[in-house]
Amino acid sequence: ASAVEIRKVNKFYGPFQALKNIDLTIPPGKVTCLIGPSGSGKSTLLRCINFLEPYDSGEIRIDGQMIGYDAPGKLMSGRKLREMRRSIGMVFQQFNLWPHMTAQQNVAEGLVRVRGLRKDEADERAAEALRKVGMADKMANHPARLSGGQQQRVAIARAIAMEPQLMLFDEPTSALDPELVGEVLSVMKTLAQEGMTMAVVTHEMGFAAHVADQVAFLESGELVAVDTPSTLLHHP
Ligand code: ADP
Ligand code: ADP
Repeated sequence: ASAVEIRKVNKFYGPFQALKNIDLTIPPGKVTCLIGPSGSGKSTLLRCINFLEPYDSGEIRIDGQMIGYDAPGKLMSGRKLREMRRSIGMVFQQFNLWPHMTAQQNVAEGLVRVRGLRKDEADERAAEALRKVGMADKMANHPARLSGGQQQRVAIARAIAMEPQLMLFDEPTSALDPELVGEVLSVMKTLAQEGMTMAVVTHEMGFAAHVADQVAFLESGELVAVDTPSTLLHHP
């Protein structure tokens, strides 16, 4: 399980400063929820962690190694960045599954293409990941024949099949009908209990209150509070 250290990170979109001097440690094996109003910079901060969004100054280190830059201002090679990203899984609000592939093929594809596994090995590991998210009986279904909650569980299986050391979740339940939110949160809770390091942007205050070890509250690009959920949130 990886640790993430975010130090004095600033991020601009043109003249607009989306992140202001962010300092945050995401401890290994723990769940950190990023909360705050829409537009406060949560998604930007999450995307800076795997350098999907380049930060402009400061440092983000994963297990001590800076991501995106070899030294301040000096971009690392694409090859090195891809290498670092191999240990980081990400799940988005939109599931981004390939519509023409079954659930199992969706999970196996990356294992073949990115990890170079043989097809039979990839299929076996995909099946294992799908069992873990409770999708054993739907492996042969195409996304169109899965509910939103099931599709998101396939997306989570696709990420965990790569055996990441860190998982980033960007509003993973926001696109779901309310009755399907629970099944996805429950899979995330299981991952947390297995000791995965997780950073989760969410509006699900129940999840933040009950599953997070740490809650980071952003407002207008600033980190205004970091604390345990029991201190920061008042939730039954
Ligand atoms: P949150 O996830 O908290 O809703 P975001 O990180 O998505 O916030 O966005 C933070 C701010 O940065 C918002 O004001 C948003 O409009 C702006 N923003 C996000 N992405 C871009 C972009 N690609 N170009 C310009 N502005 C952006
Ligand atoms: P959501 O809140 O549904 O995730 P967002 O508003 O955060 O949607 O943004 C969706 C996409 O649009 C993201 O890729 C984000 O970077 C981009 N984006 C957000 N705000 C702006 C903006 N002001 N200008 C340009 N792109 C933006």
